[in-house]
Amino acid sequence: MPESISIVIPVYNEVESLPRLYEAIKDVMEGLDNPYEIVLVDDGSRDGSLKYLEELAERDSHIVVVSFRRNFGQTAAMAAGFEYSKGDVIITMDADLQNDPTDIPMMIEMIKGKDIVSGWRKNRKDPFLSRKLPSLIANWIISKVTGVSLHDYGCTLKAYRREVVENIKLYGEMHRFIPAIASWVGAEIVEVPTKHHPRRFGTSKYGISRTVRVVLDLITVRFLQSFSTRPIHAFGPPGLLMGFVGFMISLYLSYEKIIHGVQIGNRPLLLLGVLLMILGVQAIVMGLLGEMLARIYHESQDKPIFVVKKVFRQDIGEVLTNITEADKKLRDK
Ligand code: UDP
Ligand code: MG
Repeated sequence: MPESISIVIPVYNEVESLPRLYEAIKDVMEGLDNPYEIVLVDDGSRDGSLKYLEELAERDSHIVVVSFRRNFGQTAAMAAGFEYSKGDVIITMDADLQNDPTDIPMMIEMIKGKDIVSGWRKNRKDPFLSRKLPSLIANWIISKVTGVSLHDYGCTLKAYRREVVENIKLYGEMHRFIPAIASWVGAEIVEVPTKHHPRRFGTSKYGISRTVRVVLDLITVRFLQSFSTRPIHAFGPPGLLMGFVGFMISLYLSYEKIIHGVQIGNRPLLLLGVLLMILGVQAIVMGLLGEMLARIYHESQDKPIFVVKKVFRQDIGEVLTNITEADKKLRDK
């Protein structure tokens, strides 16, 4: 039985593109043996996209429409798409026809034995200064910071195994970091060049300002990766260092004052010493608060601090960990 495919598409004011998009995907999918569904998430469109999608869903049983009450953003739309899809493999793409549905069979082929196939818009058809250049720089930074080297984090055309996205929660602009987050927990990723077209209908929803948000999200992701289970290790060392230096400075000034009777009230060093001590204490307290939050975060959600791939036990054989199912199987025995 070939794997079932869910194609997840965020839609925000794309009414002119939708008919062509639907036809193109249908043509491709009808040519394959895989069972499929197309999950379209309407992100609060105001141009009649939703009406068109609902009509489509009436006609075609492959269509699933999820509609938001208002515009929540592309990342939220994708998260909803994951939530409401059922396929073994999830393929995400844009609704504006910039990604090409004819790449889908290749993505399905490539994901065999892998966890993520990430599209690379090698011949990207977007304005250079406002989009391609910032994205070039952003991709370089993201690759360096996350340690997962991809040419094109921003390409929506990607294929994921369901297990991979199931355990990742998305916030902000974070859908682009799924490959990085997944690879930290051991997912195997391949990158493939995909086709890209200029936008023919509607307008782009983004400008250069997104780059800033992406960089901030990158800091968050990176911090969570390294320190989410041990924030005191992030804040503690600089805190101790600052506190120590500040203390030594103050000690020296006290010595000058008490033993030699020197005036210290007008010395810049005094300011520095006091500042460093305060900052040091603050950093350590911040780390301790972080530790408390980390406990609340992990314990309230029963979130493990590790990721299991498989469990072996003689009586039940090998259990692949889709965690909930594995849990059930282990308990039932
Ligand atoms: N999109 C969305 N919600 C938003 C903004 C965008 O669902 O708030 C969708 C949009 O309809 C498209 C995809 O996300 O399918 C990518 O958006 P766009 O083409 O504007 O981005 P670009 O290709 O210019 O980076
Ligand atoms: Mg686009």
